[in-house]
Amino acid sequence: MNDLVLHEHVTGPRGERVLVRRSARRRRTVSISRREGDLLIAIPATFSARQERQWVTKMVDQLVSKEARRAPARRSDDALLRMAREVSEAHLGGRAHPTSVTWSSRQNQRWGSCTPTDGTIRLSHQLQGMPDYVVRSVMMHELVHLLVPGHGPEFKALMANYPLAEKAQGFLDGVSWAKHLPEHGGEVDGGAEAGDGAAGEAGVEFAEGAGETPAPAQSVQRAR
Ligand SMILES: [Zn+2]
Repeated sequence: MNDLVLHEHVTGPRGERVLVRRSARRRRTVSISRREGDLLIAIPATFSARQERQWVTKMVDQLVSKEARRAPARRSDDALLRMAREVSEAHLGGRAHPTSVTWSSRQNQRWGSCTPTDGTIRLSHQLQGMPDYVVRSVMMHELVHLLVPGHGPEFKALMANYPLAEKAQGFLDGVSWAKHLPEHGGEVDGGAEAGDGAAGEAGVEFAEGAGETPAPAQSVQRAR
């Protein structure tokens, strides 16, 4: 984008880049919002470098507490099922119909898994708090598996409906690297959660692919 400058001293809570826009029209307000995985902060053009740093720090802190307050809603399984339906609707023409989508604290070696035979999807609780486009990306990956097993051409073609797939994968690769997890975070789940030993098609870890998301969280504050 035109006049966005990378701020070098501060990053977001999950390592997001902070991009600063100096606005000649802005006199006294500073705002922060999320856009495609980055944090966007608008400040008055008249701010000194020191003021910029001070306000960037302040606004990022504020966003973090605001999101922490809102997090419980997103953490519920109900919210997750709603998200799954939205993603299916938006990127798969509503063709994937999960019967349940739940957070799982047992998914430590993979980001998500699904059992196509019964339509269930589980996402690792480790995704909670990650950017929305990343969570949606993992969701998309699992939804596609409800329609297509494996990662062949058909799978890739459906995943391509999710524009931020690669970016989300990069984010997850970075998290895995930092945690020294296996490169692909695991794979395959026969759905044997309750010992039905049989083999569903495969669950699956992560994903590429998230779409959209100029995510909401906006907050504006007066500078003094
Ligand atoms: Zn997969």
